[in-house]
Amino acid sequence: MHSYQSPLDLVRERSPERPVALVRRRSVSVAARWFQDNLNADVFYAVKANPSRWVIETLVESGVTAFDVASLAEVELVRSVLPDARLAFMHPVKSRSAISKAYFDHGVRTFSLDCQDELDKILDATGQATDLNLVVRMAVSADGAAYTLSGKFGVSVDQAPTLLMAVRRAVKDGLMGVSFHVGSQCMRPTAFQAAMAQVGRAISRAGVIVDIVDVGGGFPSVYPGMVPPDMSEYADAIHRGFAEMPVSETTELWCEPGRALVAESSSVLARVELRKGDALYLNDGSYGSLFDATHSRWPFPTKLVSDREVSGDLKAFRFYGPTCDSIDHMPGPFWLPADVAEGDFIEIGMLGAYGVAMSTGFNGYGEHDLAFVEDAPMASLYGLAPRSIPTVRTTAEEQARKVVRLSRPKGKAGQRKKQRR
Ligand SMILES: *Cc1c(COP(=O)(O)O)cnc(C)c1O
Repeated sequence: MHSYQSPLDLVRERSPERPVALVRRRSVSVAARWFQDNLNADVFYAVKANPSRWVIETLVESGVTAFDVASLAEVELVRSVLPDARLAFMHPVKSRSAISKAYFDHGVRTFSLDCQDELDKILDATGQATDLNLVVRMAVSADGAAYTLSGKFGVSVDQAPTLLMAVRRAVKDGLMGVSFHVGSQCMRPTAFQAAMAQVGRAISRAGVIVDIVDVGGGFPSVYPGMVPPDMSEYADAIHRGFAEMPVSETTELWCEPGRALVAESSSVLARVELRKGDALYLNDGSYGSLFDATHSRWPFPTKLVSDREVSGDLKAFRFYGPTCDSIDHMPGPFWLPADVAEGDFIEIGMLGAYGVAMSTGFNGYGEHDLAFVEDAPMASLYGLAPRSIPTVRTTAEEQARKVVRLSRPKGKAGQRKKQRR
């Protein structure tokens, strides 16, 4: 793979025809170090956030050798990089053949489940294995996440005790655990502590001892309009939550971060194929790496990557992707120099998680090149760049500003506020 000092060096050397995933490997190792140094937990990387080979290789070099996988393809991918990786098959619904192959061909011993039928299936498909680690996925009610992950999976706290007892009986020589997911991009550290309290109550009601408490993923990254609390607050909340749980001295704490390990690491270099007013038609879009820009309307940070003199005026743009589908629209606003034009390259930041990984081949687009760059990401929770994205205003912030302006009292308080700003 090619390496460049900066995205601009890449543009100077070759005008790439296809979108390029710009990869900053160092940000993955720094994030991996943070988790290992600050959380007293075994770190399982949730492969789905970014299954690129270089991610898995970089994590392994940085000491993360455990992986949360959800399919046989992910099992095989990780095994091909690190034959003795620790794998946890954490999808609560698996096919019989995926369970058998994972167990017999790939040595996977850890499986999650959220109901009795899946427990029976796992036991059956592994020939009533006695060395299984079985983890009960629980649905917790947690506020503060951009994406809820309790709607589809997880046994309710009310129904959990019966299942917890059944799994405790089924585990012979392995470990029995509980897991949950507070939701992805969780902005409130205390959501973890609250979830652990709910899980703790179910454990007490079941009267079982658990060997693993797995707090799942949900650790955040930085996006315009979403600047999370310091990562240390997440570690504190989890350590407090664990201390309050009815667990034994040997109970292991696990976590499964996806987004937080990789979000900063990649951006995408896209080209403007046409401009119509404030609409830019790009060679990447919602069927490529900009899924969240369409479906969650996230206004990812943008930069023009160009040698030419550009306007100092920033203007709000919206993007259209390369396919013929009208859904392929990213409302933004994306702030770019007012004179951006056809042929310009734009770097779209913070796409390392659920960005490049989501690309499809729809309509003949979606293939990316890959290049390493050495400069800093656009924002960082680990000290590699500012913690927020200051130059980009979001619609929410704009609206908030307008509301403040409209509702500001005419009296002295309002004037004082104005002076301070
Ligand atoms: C997606 C997923 C994760 C990772 O979630 P992030 O929000 O990216 O940290 C972890 N565990 C499970 C079971 C998941 O499905």
